[in-house]
Amino acid sequence: MKTQIIDGKNIAKRIKDEVLDEILKFKNKFKIIPKIASITVGENSATKIYLNTQLRICNDLGIDIEIFNFKENISQKEIEKKILDLNNDKKINAIILNLPLPQHLNKRKIQNLISPKKDVEGITSENLGKLFYTSEELLVAPCTALSIIECLKETKVNLKSKEVVIVGHSEIVGKPVLLMLLSSLLSSPTVTVCHIATNNLSFHTKRADVLIVAVGKPKLITENMVKRGVIIIDVGINYVNVKNCNDKKIIDQKAKNPKLRLVGDVDFENVSKKASFITPVPGGVGPVTNSILMKNLVNLLKLQYGLSLNGYKIF
Ligand code: NAD
Repeated sequence: MKTQIIDGKNIAKRIKDEVLDEILKFKNKFKIIPKIASITVGENSATKIYLNTQLRICNDLGIDIEIFNFKENISQKEIEKKILDLNNDKKINAIILNLPLPQHLNKRKIQNLISPKKDVEGITSENLGKLFYTSEELLVAPCTALSIIECLKETKVNLKSKEVVIVGHSEIVGKPVLLMLLSSLLSSPTVTVCHIATNNLSFHTKRADVLIVAVGKPKLITENMVKRGVIIIDVGINYVNVKNCNDKKIIDQKAKNPKLRLVGDVDFENVSKKASFITPVPGGVGPVTNSILMKNLVNLLKLQYGLSLNGYKIF
């Protein structure tokens, strides 16, 4: 079987070019540079990586971004006030709340204070709620879930009546992608969602025509867990030790740390032999996710400035 790699970098470039075009038109029409406020609390290595990506992509697209980095011990009241100020600030078009937040903060309450019109990550209850309705036009939604849909569209395979199995039921990946896949009255696939408490995971994964995996466990999905011809979307991001032929960790001599490499949740080397399409890690879902963030921004700008809207088409 010939396996086709779903090239996330290519999809991301196409979306970025579309976004750049829209941003240029917007700047010419309104003489305004769109601006994102990105909030972080405390220090976190995952957030640092995400922030650098935000800075790079904003720079590439000529978008302004201001980072608000608060101390670990900021109070709930202070951060709530900051969000309300940003909601009222006409120069700010979008707000990103970088996670995780320290334990003492009420994450959901803070997220839901973000104006739905500035909610570029699509994580407020109002915007998430729109996923529930079949006919609702989606202007913003969680970027990773939309990125999975873009990767699936790239295969040009009609999903109607197919068996889709999602492994992982988080609020930003598994649940929103489930609702997106069920958003057609007549052309949806049949979707199963597995999670940590699922008995006999491979019973489900073996049935899948399309397998979407978003867990955070390297090699969770092995060759004997999938059927021939499956389409695999691997969302996982895991850093694992690079080992030598004697199974010993390789040390990076410069940094004096064990060398790490990025892998997904799927045993790519072996599973890809059975797949018809598969997303690699890195270079699959990740780059598309970042470009979708900017597509969400374009949709918010159109909403804020009363321009004609065309939301995401899932089917
Ligand atoms: P999460 O921790 O919120 O959720 C993990 C999910 O996996 C849960 O539903 C849990 O029940 C399930 N799970 C855990 N162990 C399991 C097991 N043994 N069998 C079956 N299900 C199991 O994670 P998340 O935020 O959804 O992220 C999942 C992965 O995707 C992580 O590796 C994360 O880094 C990655 N991620 C990637 C992108 C991207 O753009 N590529 C974006 C977001 C998250």
